[in-house]
Amino acid sequence: MFNTYRPDTFDQVLDILDKETCHIFAGGTDLMIRKRQWQGAERKFTQSVVYISHLKELAGIVESDDYYEIGTLTTQTDIVDSDLPDYIRVPYSLMSSPAIRNVATVGGNIVNAASVADSLPIFYALDAKVELVSKYGRRLLPVEEFVLGKYKTARQANEILTKVIVPKFKEKGFSYKKIGQRKASILSKLSVFMVYNESDLRIAIGAVNDTVIRNRALEVTYKKDKNIDDLIQGYKSLMFGQDDKRSTKDYRERVTENLIRSFLKEMEDEL
Ligand SMILES: Cc1cc2nc3c(=O)[nH]c(=O)nc-3n(C[C@H](O)[C@H](O)[C@H](O)COP(=O)(O)OP(=O)(O)OC[C@H]3O[C@@H](n4cnc5c(N)ncnc54)[C@H](O)[C@@H]3O)c2cc1C
Repeated sequence: MFNTYRPDTFDQVLDILDKETCHIFAGGTDLMIRKRQWQGAERKFTQSVVYISHLKELAGIVESDDYYEIGTLTTQTDIVDSDLPDYIRVPYSLMSSPAIRNVATVGGNIVNAASVADSLPIFYALDAKVELVSKYGRRLLPVEEFVLGKYKTARQANEILTKVIVPKFKEKGFSYKKIGQRKASILSKLSVFMVYNESDLRIAIGAVNDTVIRNRALEVTYKKDKNIDDLIQGYKSLMFGQDDKRSTKDYRERVTENLIRSFLKEMEDEL
């Protein structure tokens, strides 16, 4: 037996979360699958549910000089249709399918923290932070500290994720490759997000390990020595994932290598 709540205000959400451990139901595209327990999925949908999708103040994008603040209820379609730079918009246009994108939220993808979550490499690479709010205050955490593992985050039960704060990046070029069995509605075998400008290179690899692979030391070293073989070896040594039903470790390593090599060649030609 569990309760369902549809609070009228954000403060009421915080009160409910303070009293009872609940599933926060945003777009529901991850939660509904969890409830079905198909394909032997282990997670269960047994707690009370608090619906938030009607709280419009949690949706939308605010731009300041240095940041984009993306409200948790901003949908994937909202992002694709927004004025955000292409290095954010384009990856979202490749996620799921049009129908899912209309309801799937930015916050839901982050908090679900699937190893295959396609937005996480982007937010890792861009040094994004999440804002978590409870009845007792607010805290900011870098996305890579918020995600603790596959389906594990640092969110406390009484907290709600309200927004993701993305520092602006003066991009000269970017690439986002999502590799899957088909184009739409598919879990990634791997996803690689890369972006650069004159002084900075960022590379983040998703769906290989339990959490996104990003290594600042490798990025900085490559910018100095331009040694692509060392860079590739460095990333391969960080790829711990094993063969699974989506792909093999060998395939992931080879494709990642090819993607990084071709992106860096384009980058060096441009700079
Ligand atoms: C057919 C299909 C295709 C898909 N394709 C892709 C894909 O290509 N790439 C991809 O990455 N994902 C994909 N997904 C997964 C899913 O659509 C995304 O992860 C989506 O962004 C989840 O958002 P949601 O609003 O539906 O989350 P929900 O299902 O509502 O919530 C997901 C989790 O986050 C929690 N949560 C949600 N909002 C908050 C909040 N504000 N604060 C705290 N906790 C919160 C929920 O309690 C739950 O644990 C797909 C799903 C389906 C069904």
